[in-house]
Formats: sequence, structure tokens, C-alpha cells
Amino acid sequence: MAILIDGKQLAADVRNRIKEATSKLPRRPGLAVILVGEDPASQVYVRNKEKDCIHCGFAGQTYRMEDCSEEELLALIGRLNKNENIDGILVQLPLPAHINERRILEAIDPDKDVDAFHPTNVGRMLVGKPVLLPCTPAGVMEMFRAYGIDLAGKNCVVVGRSNIVGKPMGLLMLREDATVTFCHSKTPDLAEHTRQADVLVVAAGRQGLISADMVKEGAVVIDVAMNRDPETGKFTGDVLFDEVEKKASHITPVPGGVGPMTRAILMQNVFAAAKYHMGLDTDEE
Ligand code: NAP
Repeated sequence: MAILIDGKQLAADVRNRIKEATSKLPRRPGLAVILVGEDPASQVYVRNKEKDCIHCGFAGQTYRMEDCSEEELLALIGRLNKNENIDGILVQLPLPAHINERRILEAIDPDKDVDAFHPTNVGRMLVGKPVLLPCTPAGVMEMFRAYGIDLAGKNCVVVGRSNIVGKPMGLLMLREDATVTFCHSKTPDLAEHTRQADVLVVAAGRQGLISADMVKEGAVVIDVAMNRDPETGKFTGDVLFDEVEKKASHITPVPGGVGPMTRAILMQNVFAAAKYHMGLDTDEE
């Protein structure tokens, strides 16, 4: 039976470490969250971020707008970019259709871009050691570290190639000397690749995509996906957990795996951005 990677516990540990370190900073880190529209899932995500900010001792500020124009949103971001008490700016996605998402994300000062979606931060990740990393893949890397999973020389397979999960996930594993394969919807024989994986990270958003026969004995299996089961209405991953856990060495549950880590890394990014803005060393907490 696989070791269960407990994302909930790990995330709580990360938040507690940040809380402790925050108490030693000269001022409280500040996070501005912008929510446009009434999307119910986004409302929940924003409330969770507010809770996490309070726990970590950050000064959180949420801008809730029923509706606004692209120009109004750009103007708000411009003001927050200049505000010295704001270390991180997060625009909750998705935005309403009349607002150009790319234009908005690229207006955020890269040093306050705590989602790390700005092309400057993507480039920094590619070439060096950036301060801000995309939250979901960085959360998975934290899981590897916490469970002593060494990626050097391992065959790592990522299913999914989105800009926010799949691609950065593979790049971060490459930085740890893994040999990385990216699979996607045009990969002709997915199982042929997943069966070679010492470490398999699945982020396709296709419930039940990965069955036990597609997994190598003793593999580490990370399920990033969050699918709503049409029958039960509950969240499920892409991996058939009950059968794959019998074969894997480590496995993440859904929920309670990668999701909580994504939230925790966001707080870590706000903390890192704050230290950077305060002129403090960003390599250690
Ligand atoms: P996305 O933008 O829809 O990307 C999905 C990727 O999976 C695409 O690259 C797609 O290939 C690939 N794919 C789809 N069907 C496939 C198949 N049958 N075989 C192989 N590859 C397939 O999604 P995303 O934003 O990366 O998110 C992926 C999943 O992670 C979703 O379930 C999302 O809810 C979840 N998620 C969770 C967290 C968290 O914190 N836990 C955070 C972000 C996302 P193509 O490129 O060829 O279309």
C-alpha cells in the first residue's frame, strides 16, 4: 500500500512556519486580492485566501467588484503596484469575458506577482532562481522535499501541458535533474509513457484517466486534478485512487493533496515578495 502524501498537514506546517517567520519581520506582508464578478467557486477561493492571510499574520485586502471595465481594473492594479504596503497582487481568475485576462495579468508588477503568471516570472523560472514560483507546481515540489523523494536521474512524466500547471511542473522537476516527459491530449499512447514513470504527475482534468495498469510498480503518483464527480458532486482526481494506491510507493489524495499545498505556497510567495521588498534575504525564511 502506498504512503499517503498528506497535503493538508504539510500545508498547515508551511503556514505555521510562515506565521512564525512573519512575526519577526519589521512590518506585516500585504496581499491585495481582486475579485470581479459573482462566480461562486471564486468567492470560496477568495475567502480561503483571506483566512490564510489572517493565519499567517498578513495584512490582506480584498477588492470585490460586481463588475468593472478593463480600464478600471488596470487603474486599480496601477495603484496597487505603487503602494509600498502591498507586496502581492492576485487577480482571481476567471475574469468576465469583456476583460482581457492576459492584459490584466501582465499589468501586475512582476515583483508583486504572487501567482507567478507574468511572463517575466515565467522567464525567471526558466533561466534561474526566481523568488516567485507558480503555486501548484511549487507545492508539488515541496511535497517531494517533505517526503524525501529525490528526483535526480528519475523518469518523471507530466500529463498536461498548461501554462499554470503542466509546463512549470516539468521545468521545476528538470531543475532537480529529472528526465522529464510531457504528455497531452495529442499523445498517441499515453499508457506507454506513464508506465515508464518513476514519478507521475497528472494534471489533465479527466476523471479516471489513470488506471493501475498505466502505473509502474513503486511509482510516486501525484494527482493535481480537481474534477467534480457528476454522480456524487464530490471532488475527484484523474487517478483511480483505490486501484493505483495498491501499486504506487507514494500517492496524493483528492481532496487533501495538492489543493491545500497550492494555497500554502501562495502565502509563501507573499512572504517571499515581502522580504524582497523589505530588502531582506529571500533564500531563507
Ligand atoms: P487545462 O488548462 O485544461 O490543461 C489540461 C491539460 O491536460 C492540457 O494540456 C491537455 O492537453 C491535457 N489533457 C486533456 N485530456 C487529456 C488526455 N485524455 N490525455 C492526456 N492529456 C490530456 O487544465 P489545468 O489548468 O492545467 O488544470 C488541470 C487540472 O488540475 C484540472 O482538473 C484543474 O482543476 C486542476 N488544478 C488543480 C489545482 C490545485 O490546486 N489542486 C490547481 C490548478 C489546476 P492539450 O494541451 O493537448 O489540450
